[in-house]
Amino acid sequence: MNFDLTEEQVMIKKMMTEFADKEVAPFASENDREEKFPWDIVKKMGELGIFGTVIPEEYGGGGFDYISHAIVAEELGRVDSSVRGIYSVQISLVALTILKWGTEEQKKKYLPKLANGEILGCFGLTEPNSGSDVVSMQSSAVRDGDYYILNGNKMWITNGGVADIAIIFAKTDKSMGHKGITAFIVEKGVDGFSSKDIHNKLGLRASNTAELILQDVRVPKENILGNEGDGFKVAMSALDNGRYTVAAGCVGLAQGCYDVAKKYAVERVQFGKPIAGHQLVQELFADMIVEIEAGRLLVYRAGHLKNKHLPHTREVSMAKLFCSEMVNRVAYKALQVFGGYGFSSEFPIERYYRDARINTLYEGTSQIQKLIIANRELGISAF
Ligand SMILES: Cc1cc2nc3c(=O)[nH]c(=O)nc-3n(C[C@H](O)[C@H](O)[C@H](O)COP(=O)(O)OP(=O)(O)OC[C@H]3O[C@@H](n4cnc5c(N)ncnc54)[C@H](O)[C@@H]3O)c2cc1C
Repeated sequence: MNFDLTEEQVMIKKMMTEFADKEVAPFASENDREEKFPWDIVKKMGELGIFGTVIPEEYGGGGFDYISHAIVAEELGRVDSSVRGIYSVQISLVALTILKWGTEEQKKKYLPKLANGEILGCFGLTEPNSGSDVVSMQSSAVRDGDYYILNGNKMWITNGGVADIAIIFAKTDKSMGHKGITAFIVEKGVDGFSSKDIHNKLGLRASNTAELILQDVRVPKENILGNEGDGFKVAMSALDNGRYTVAAGCVGLAQGCYDVAKKYAVERVQFGKPIAGHQLVQELFADMIVEIEAGRLLVYRAGHLKNKHLPHTREVSMAKLFCSEMVNRVAYKALQVFGGYGFSSEFPIERYYRDARINTLYEGTSQIQKLIIANRELGISAF
């Protein structure tokens, strides 16, 4: 077993730490306050190849390994979860899904542009009345010659209002349960396809979240991702990738919470010494760092399995479950270190605290992760 990062991973970490500190962190607070989508940062990420990481070089990506992918998500998540979310969706939910399920034509058409940030993608699975229970979705796709006609609404879609392409899941056969779902690539601008931004979120306020509306949208049959009826499998494999970068982002955000709390604790003096010198404050730091490091190891283990192309659904769900709950505990404790100042926007900890909350909810709630893990353990599905 080797716990060391490779030279390439060390270099990527260094580059991403600098990028996050210089190009992302200074704008995070204002973007959060004003709900401003960080177009400038997205443009720079595209130019630097940050959206290409794990995409193979033949499709315009960087050909990085999955630990490096986690490191990028970690470093972005350390300073701005909204930016980390944009990265996660673009690569994990969209590009990697096209890489795994797309035809050669689809890969050549979309992957280089996703990798260099020329286009943004989004992933439309959730609906107003279908969240955890994906199979209950109402969106439909009806064959009409060389086209499918899509109707339905998708809810809470990250990048939904800014994306150029969307992976949309819809039922091609309502009688077939999970085998009746199909995935489509839908391009922005096509008649009947629109979006409505969702505002005033608790966290991730600089990230775009939208409802997608599909009214008689004509999608050519060449835009099916995988085969007709493969949609559920496509969605689950995408979520295996998505949850991985969510977990890594949680480790990064928890580290960000820890770092700002540490700086404050050594500077703030109460009872004649830095608060870091009080035993109960030290307990907060010990609790935080043990959890952060445990989370990081769970993420890297899942990444190791991904690098080896071994089954990893159980390990990714474990990492997602632990890290998403962990980051909320860490954010709570880090904010406690700040006392009343933690309750103001003077320090980034209040944004980190709000941003932590989403992680136990999206890409499968904590309850759903537990059911996935227990199913693997017991061989009995609770769904
Ligand atoms: C900011 C944000 C961004 C998002 N981005 C995307 C995106 O890009 N693409 C996308 O498709 N979706 C996205 N989502 C949607 C997200 O994945 C869903 O909100 C999530 O899957 C939960 O679904 P739901 O909200 O309908 O909750 P529900 O499924 O209604 O769950 C409500 C509660 O019931 C519990 N529950 C449900 N079923 C069970 C069960 N069988 N056993 C035990 N407990 C259960 C849940 O754990 C939860 O606590 C996003 C959501 C948000 C808030």
